[in-house]
Amino acid sequence: MGMLDGKVAFITGGARGQGRAHAVTCAREGADVVIADVIDQLPTVPYKLATKSDLEETVRLVEAHDRRAVAVKADVRAQDQLDAAVAAGIAELGKIDILIANAGIWTLGSFWELTDEQWEEMIGVNLTGVWRSAKAVAPHMMANGSGSIVITASVNALEAGQYTAHYVAAKHGLIGLMRNIALELAPYGIRCNAVCPGAVKTPMTNHQDAWDMFAGHPGGTEDDMTEAGHHYTLLSGTSWLDPQDVANAALYLNSDLGSKVTGATIPVDAGHLTLSGFNPASTRANSPALPLSVLDDLGECDHDAAGGVLESSADEGSRLRGGFASRRIVGKVEVKQPVCRGRAAVFLRPDLRRLKPDYARELPRERKLLRVSRLEGSRVGGIGIHEADFGRLAVLRHGGPPGC
Ligand code: NAD
Repeated sequence: MGMLDGKVAFITGGARGQGRAHAVTCAREGADVVIADVIDQLPTVPYKLATKSDLEETVRLVEAHDRRAVAVKADVRAQDQLDAAVAAGIAELGKIDILIANAGIWTLGSFWELTDEQWEEMIGVNLTGVWRSAKAVAPHMMANGSGSIVITASVNALEAGQYTAHYVAAKHGLIGLMRNIALELAPYGIRCNAVCPGAVKTPMTNHQDAWDMFAGHPGGTEDDMTEAGHHYTLLSGTSWLDPQDVANAALYLNSDLGSKVTGATIPVDAGHLTLSGFNPASTRANSPALPLSVLDDLGECDHDAAGGVLESSADEGSRLRGGFASRRIVGKVEVKQPVCRGRAAVFLRPDLRRLKPDYARELPRERKLLRVSRLEGSRVGGIGIHEADFGRLAVLRHGGPPGC
């Protein structure tokens, strides 16, 4: 007997990643599923979103569990498309008992450099899209007098993250939205909860650009990313989570086991949120309010293919532009030129000065990073999610020579 026998689940962003894990888990536990996904590229998203064949593969996996699947192309920013997807699901499968509002995007940029389009697309998909998804199923669930809604938030619904103000704002907003949905639908016997995943290995996060960032040089591998992930979790042996870890939490919430749980926020993060933090801006008097990372622009630079040498020859004054592709991190750096012309940028965990005196020896206390003469073996991990949390030292660059 399955935990969701006889139920029907509506899953947004269900073509792949966590959405696929939700769909297959629901099917394995006896539910039919409606899978809605945009199946298109959004202008501000630098990695590839799901394709039609991804969607078809999820349908195949659901059907392999002997359950029915209705697949619909729908953008969660469009109410009419969601309403049509819900109507198609009810027409085909009879009802909708469960909503897993999972569709989301992830892009990077310092908050002062985000474009209107980046901001609006992020809020549109990751926050408004969830409101629209809940709005699409609510009247039907209210008429039935039962239902369960699980919203995929993030640890970034509960903590800040570097270069993701728009993502963090959307995800924080989801917690308020979830609580209000729980409040307003409780009289109808409908529950609403949020899961907050830590770093999960999905096509959103697992691609060459990310590997390069973790490796600190072009040609990075998945192993580099895995290694960095070990700095993001607390539980021994954990690195990036599997989508199934999140699907398991949603299954609990959607099943009878969670029947008295509503308005709850459940981290699925291998302890990430329990990790102790540190203050990136020293509280010493006269200390400049440094952000966690110092962001200057490397501009033109030279370094060997292995990232061994870096010499900045750029003019002073220009700024790093936000964006995924431009945020390559170069490891193992030797800065030849002292200070001045460089527009180099270095991530430095302030606590590293304490933990790694050998690396930190030559580092100045503040942002005169280019005084560093040699940093053997320095490594980073940090993709935009938490560069500094993973990392030790990183140099950001953009616009350098090919292969730089
Ligand atoms: P993913 O990119 O593999 O899956 C997201 C899916 O959403 C894709 O199939 C994509 O096509 C779809 N989608 C994007 N925009 C859409 C739109 N406008 N309308 C409909 N569908 C759309 O990534 P994932 O990791 O599986 O992400 C699932 C959710 O988990 C997202 O909300 C994400 O923010 C959240 N999350 C991810 C991580 C992580 O580390 N991967 C961590 C915390 C939270």
